[in-house]
Amino acid sequence: MTVIEVQNLRKAYGDTVAVRDVSFAVERGEIFGILGPNGAGKTTTVECVSGLRQADGGAISVLGRPPADTALRRLVGVQLQESQLPDKLSGREALELFSSFYPGPADWQALARDLDVPLTTRYAKMSGGQKQRLSIALALVGNPEIAILDELTTGLDPQARRDTWGLIEAVRAQGVTILLVTHFMEEAERLCDRLAVIDRGTVVALDTPAGLIAGTTTEQRIRFRPSAPVDVALLEARPEVRQVLRHGSQLEVAGTGNLLHAVTSVLAANDIIANDLRIEQASLDDAFVQLTGRSDTGE
Ligand code: ADP
Repeated sequence: MTVIEVQNLRKAYGDTVAVRDVSFAVERGEIFGILGPNGAGKTTTVECVSGLRQADGGAISVLGRPPADTALRRLVGVQLQESQLPDKLSGREALELFSSFYPGPADWQALARDLDVPLTTRYAKMSGGQKQRLSIALALVGNPEIAILDELTTGLDPQARRDTWGLIEAVRAQGVTILLVTHFMEEAERLCDRLAVIDRGTVVALDTPAGLIAGTTTEQRIRFRPSAPVDVALLEARPEVRQVLRHGSQLEVAGTGNLLHAVTSVLAANDIIANDLRIEQASLDDAFVQLTGRSDTGE
């Protein structure tokens, strides 16, 4: 069942077209990611889905309603980049206040514990990471059906980032649908069931992380130390193999398709063992570079 549908979304700020033509549909219970370089239009897209900005064109439906429908306030939790709270508000006060807005709030004390939110520190005194964790807790405190999370783990240290991923997976396991904006490849690959890759205001690919990786034409490389001399011509005769290089006692085989099977079957037929075998496969980074022509997300 589709819970968020975006069709041909368009949004400009004066002469800057932030979102040119974005379409995607999010199914109930999935973690759907929007991945793209800085300035691609990710935040503008989720702000339109959250009802915080009005689209210039296209159609958006959230749980069958237009994004501005006030009934969605109880059903959709939003964590935005750079959310601001009053300086004097403590973590406890913010969580108590926000949970009072909802008829069936989550246990805010458990959320604060899981996310390590400081309860007595005033907002102005919180570190960037503490503010970030509080804003995630506030997005979840209403027990939403959908959580929209923008740059969830930006500003968190690697351990806090991994802890947050665990929490998001636990939230999803409770049946919450999650729309996530990220520029971290590892986060996208680890968390998301499906990803829309956005570049210059348009969707350039939409697939599972594995599907995006499989779609790359990037070569694989296999390195190993053969237990006995290998006749390189036997490897080169396989259609999967493009090149075989020697580095001292190591061989490096580059190619495509089921390269590992091709190499291991040649070795097995000649009673050769591959020691210290290492495989370099295409990654989401490779897919991203091929799709956007950029070497990284620009952060
Ligand atoms: P992303 O989240 O992918 O980094 P944004 O949606 O924030 O992208 O921005 C897309 C484009 O719109 C960028 O060129 C950005 O400079 C511009 N933009 C974003 N917000 C505003 C705004 N409030 N006013 C003018 N331009 C904006």
